[in-house]
Amino acid sequence: MSTVGHLINGARVDDATRTQDVYDPSTGEVGGQVALAGKATVEQAIAAAQDAFPAWRDTPPAKRARIMYRFKALLEQHADEICRLIGQEHGKIVHDARGELQRGIENIEYACGAPELLKGEYSKNTGPGIDSWSEFQPLGVVAGITPFNFPAMVPLWMYPAAIACGNTFVLKPSERDPSSTLYIAELALEAGLPPGVLNVVNGDKEAVDTLLDDSRVQAVSFVGSTPIAEAIYARASANGKRCQALGGAKNHAIVMPDADMDNVVSSLTGAAFGSSGERCMALSVAVAVGDEAADALIDKMQAQMKTLKVGPFHDADNDFGPVITRAHQEKVCGYIESAQQQGAEIVVDGRGVQVPGHENGFFVGGTLIDRVTPDMTCYLEEIFGPVLLVVRAGSMEEAMRLIDDHEYGNGTCIYTRDGEAARYFSDRIQVGMVGINVPLPVPVSYHSFGGWKRSLFGDLSAYGPDAVRFYTRRKTVTQRWPSTGVREGAQFSFPS
Ligand code: NAD
Repeated sequence: MSTVGHLINGARVDDATRTQDVYDPSTGEVGGQVALAGKATVEQAIAAAQDAFPAWRDTPPAKRARIMYRFKALLEQHADEICRLIGQEHGKIVHDARGELQRGIENIEYACGAPELLKGEYSKNTGPGIDSWSEFQPLGVVAGITPFNFPAMVPLWMYPAAIACGNTFVLKPSERDPSSTLYIAELALEAGLPPGVLNVVNGDKEAVDTLLDDSRVQAVSFVGSTPIAEAIYARASANGKRCQALGGAKNHAIVMPDADMDNVVSSLTGAAFGSSGERCMALSVAVAVGDEAADALIDKMQAQMKTLKVGPFHDADNDFGPVITRAHQEKVCGYIESAQQQGAEIVVDGRGVQVPGHENGFFVGGTLIDRVTPDMTCYLEEIFGPVLLVVRAGSMEEAMRLIDDHEYGNGTCIYTRDGEAARYFSDRIQVGMVGINVPLPVPVSYHSFGGWKRSLFGDLSAYGPDAVRFYTRRKTVTQRWPSTGVREGAQFSFPS
């Protein structure tokens, strides 16, 4: 059985003092091990990144961009292998892994624009014979810590932009599905990244704490659950680092009485159950406005869910695969149980689903729960499983209040035929990413990605224009070249 190690200074490094099992969630069997880096290994990666920084900082952005073009081509060439690795350790269906990889590649395409993105700002004649400009200089060594649910895409939200901006990077991926992340990083080196520019250390809290406490690390990008995001933001900030920490979600869809219910049902099905609901943009709560809309939604949803196919990742006919671990499967089923005990109505129950030939896989079937109220545990917490809750509201204002009162503010959407209602909703709602008749309002690589409230700690979102800001610091230079030397005497007041 193989052990996934680390990638430091351009070479594979094994530090197998501590290891952890990596599962194939479709079978429930252990597929391999991952090495958990100790402090010394992480420090070795930071040192490699620190050493690589001066030359990389001075490499022209156009040359950095050329490596990104080659990196993109390599990912396209090796897409089948990458998606197999994602499926094997994460469990998502092959075509969903393809979609994830494509979204990741789009971030590399954005980074290919580095020369344009880093042009800075220039003003001629800010005073007589004086010109001023602002440059965006790289920070130095930057760290990224990523979650299990997008092992290819989320790391690609971070390091292509950071590296294209002239930083060097240490990535600490999820220890639960590390293989595709490491494989992709190796392709980045094959594309021409010099040793030390991108390093990967697998590990757990020990590796993360080392990154957060090391003064050579200038900035930290984190994506994961809210309690960890909050702790990471606090520790990185206390250590004087720039930090952005994206957390969990509870994304609501408002279903207005005038919505096209067939469209609602078909798009909610994909958005609630796709990838087993293990997406930070999964729509996990439908707020139906009026009992008539709620009853129609439940009827049609129930019928649609009869067609859902859950099964192993390699069968492209399946709609979604297993959840990540046995413990998570039990946690998701625990939320369904709690909903039942607290008075909600389980309309479709995904507990105990059997997948022939994969009886030990970590499967949970699509679940639909009606008459959920805002005080229930299943409503308050992120389930991160294929479970759709239906809450009944009396008005659009009441539905919006529910969303605004929730601790998370990652994504939301509204289904309606009324443009004015949609406009009012998108303008007022306290959520960072909004869809109008679009279930997963996931932006493209040239718009940044981030929630509000306890879904994001920090000021700047991930990727796109915000990433360029996050991974650079502004320096403003004011310049004057007198033709015959400085003739005037000293000036003590601002010139007016
Ligand atoms: P997680 O918080 O358990 O782990 C994320 C990372 O933090 C991993 O690399 C892990 O090794 C590390 N980590 C875990 N516990 C730690 C600790 N005590 N100290 C230091 N580091 C620690 O998250 P997960 O289960 O891997 O991912 C799912 C979560 O990520 C969900 O809550 C989901 O909503 C969220 N997520 C958010 C976004 C977003 O854009 N907001 C995107 C993807 C996932």
